[in-house]
Amino acid sequence: MLKQRDHEADCFITSEEKNFEKAVQDYAPDVVGIYASTGQETWCLEHVRNWRKALPHTKYVMGGPHPSFDKEILREDGYVDAIVKAEAEHTIIDLVEAWAASRPIDLIPNVGFMEAGEPVQNLIRPAIQDLDSLPFPDVDVFYKYPFLAKKRVMQVHASRGCQNSCTYCSVGLMKEEWVSGKGDKFNRVKSVDYLCEEMNDILARYPGFRMVNFGDAALNMQRGWLEEFAEKWPKKVGLPYACNVNINFLNENDIINLKRSGCVSVQFGLESGNEDVRLRVYKKGYTDKIVYSIPQLLRKHNISYRTNNIMGSPAESLDDMYQTVRQNREIKPAGCTVLIYRPFKSSALGRVDFEQGRVDIGKDIGPSIHSDSQMVRDDLKEVINLQRLFNIAVFMPGGFPLVKKLVKLPNNPAFDGVGLAFLWYQHAVVSGFGMLDDFKLGMRNLSQIFGRKSGGTHEYGTTRLQDTMDIGTGADI
Ligand code: SF4
Repeated sequence: MLKQRDHEADCFITSEEKNFEKAVQDYAPDVVGIYASTGQETWCLEHVRNWRKALPHTKYVMGGPHPSFDKEILREDGYVDAIVKAEAEHTIIDLVEAWAASRPIDLIPNVGFMEAGEPVQNLIRPAIQDLDSLPFPDVDVFYKYPFLAKKRVMQVHASRGCQNSCTYCSVGLMKEEWVSGKGDKFNRVKSVDYLCEEMNDILARYPGFRMVNFGDAALNMQRGWLEEFAEKWPKKVGLPYACNVNINFLNENDIINLKRSGCVSVQFGLESGNEDVRLRVYKKGYTDKIVYSIPQLLRKHNISYRTNNIMGSPAESLDDMYQTVRQNREIKPAGCTVLIYRPFKSSALGRVDFEQGRVDIGKDIGPSIHSDSQMVRDDLKEVINLQRLFNIAVFMPGGFPLVKKLVKLPNNPAFDGVGLAFLWYQHAVVSGFGMLDDFKLGMRNLSQIFGRKSGGTHEYGTTRLQDTMDIGTGADI
């Protein structure tokens, strides 16, 4: 969007820069944009303080899920000058051009700022209704890094939104806050023609990709879209792909269209093996009947499937989590991603957790959704051990009774290693780096793994390697 308006823009990635701070400093930008989901909001603070000394005229703005639901980061002295709530495409232009012309920013929709010592959040503009009106994503800012350009799996989005509104996820509150109620839609899909053009635009410059991984909440979001996609994608692009699906909106016809279009693998959030938790607490919409019948159909049409699972939510006892193990053993996925429940203030369930004192607010777990829990509960040791050993319980013959005994032991590096090994394997598969390059990716983040500060306020222990991994499951966490 900025380049379209003749601004110069670039992107710097910590793991790919020898000296991240210096790289940004040498570029000497007028504006620095920082993306943060909850837990990441302070990671850049020390860098910004140093940049402010070297580049006293630079402005700093934060966008992403965290500032979209919590404007308190504005109080952090010497950090960001503004935040952007919700979609930033049009706001970033208004903001950058206002700063360039020394105009006030206090009337720009979506922007948050400090006024008289208090954070203020402006109203937001309607969500962008026509995704085809946006320029193609500027992937060059990532693939300028040779290591990333070597990937064989391209990460792409075909849509924004989700049909479901699970209570542990931010999507429900986004739907309430990001649309006006005057007919604008939260769930939007790119046209198939636009998406194919976007792919071919990328492939023309980066022909090495062999597969696509759609990061959307669900590729089956809009009725009829998959049918057109199955007609056009194989002819115009022809790459096999993996995607997320919402199985409560998936029927056999959709699965046939997934197969026809080149889908080899899908991922869905099982989250809990307890139907009551899934339906009544998480409002996931997946009945047991759906959970058992859709995998059968996927197998019938030769599409592999993986599940996402949550451990340690306030709705679940250890027995419920064992039921999640059992259900995975029954439906036989190709792999399980297992996350530890985190109470986000941007989710309906998270807000209740904070209200009801179920959160250990003094406990800093950084950006973690893999390594630790912020919940107050007596069986945290077991929850964390089960998350580490979950895949052994599901996939190893005799593994389940063994894991039930092992979870009673103290948390320990050996279990961390097992959890990490499974995550490494899953990430290697989903990201397309392969095991060796994925290992190198971890090594590149070594400074974040072994006890050094991240550049923010969080100490990083050994398990933080897990937090450096984009495991391609953003939709269901
Ligand atoms: S968890 Fe996944 S399915 Fe549920 S609302 Fe969020 S994105 Fe949608």
